[in-house]
Amino acid sequence: MRVSWHERFADTPDVLKSPRLSQTVIPVLDFEIGGGNFITMAGPCSVETEAQLLATAHHVRHAGAQILRGGAFKPRSSPYAFQGHGLEGLKMLAHARQQTGLAIVTEVMSEEDVPLVAEYADILQIGSRNMENYALLEARSGRPILLKRGMVATIADLLRSAQIVLDNGNPNVILCERGIRTFETALRNTFDVAAIALIKQISHLPIIADPSHAAGSSDLVPALARVAVAAGADGLIVEVHPDPEKAWSDGDQSLDFAAFDAMMESIKPYLALCHPMQSERSSARRVPALRPRQAACVHAMEAAG
Ligand code: PEP
Ligand code: MN
Repeated sequence: MRVSWHERFADTPDVLKSPRLSQTVIPVLDFEIGGGNFITMAGPCSVETEAQLLATAHHVRHAGAQILRGGAFKPRSSPYAFQGHGLEGLKMLAHARQQTGLAIVTEVMSEEDVPLVAEYADILQIGSRNMENYALLEARSGRPILLKRGMVATIADLLRSAQIVLDNGNPNVILCERGIRTFETALRNTFDVAAIALIKQISHLPIIADPSHAAGSSDLVPALARVAVAAGADGLIVEVHPDPEKAWSDGDQSLDFAAFDAMMESIKPYLALCHPMQSERSSARRVPALRPRQAACVHAMEAAG
């Protein structure tokens, strides 16, 4: 029997597509997320120094990114690891936006920090470890939320957390698949590409992929990025560092500039197939019906299964 996704996800009605809303399009600075253009967020795991951040920002902008990522408040598994520069990091991010025109996405870890982070960032990231932090989900920021899937969260759990943000008056949620914990231990996480395909099918919220935290290893990031594009992701968030070996956090999975350029080049054929609107700027609030090439992309994925 064919599964009724609407029945299966009945407790999160507002995140599901409806006749009223088939696609949420989120305006950020002068572009949109979810509107058919593919969006790349790129930058270091942590904001370290002004020089590191600015070099990365200029580089990723020239390579086609629209958004600079970088953690100022860092959730770290070890209490002895670098916890981020806090306010100083936010100021460096704002300076990088002013220098490059890139929008800023950065993590907020507690509801008390929401007003401060919202003052500096264009998009607030709620990280995997906080996907079920209800006080944080309920905090009113006035900014779009990048909601990362928890490492042991089901798709239903992710959608429930998104529903909470929507219920608290913020319609602008971007979902993010960043890999989950499974019995497989060779990689940092298991990249759940099916989650992207399913969420594209059932939810009106944009969904992006984080191949960096999924893979944990820079040599696998481009392949996971290509797979994410083919599954219909609305964008990527990728860790990039001028000198990954010297990174203060997540160096193993960070791309250097040359590797980022090569990744951006390698996703182009997949974008041409799955995001034909990439080079057109769309301001439509609703996504148009599938174009023939998009349908071919979806069908190619289905056939591959
Ligand atoms: C990050 O983006 O640097 C991060 C900590 O991500 P996640 O919450 O997915 O682990
Ligand atoms: Mn990281």
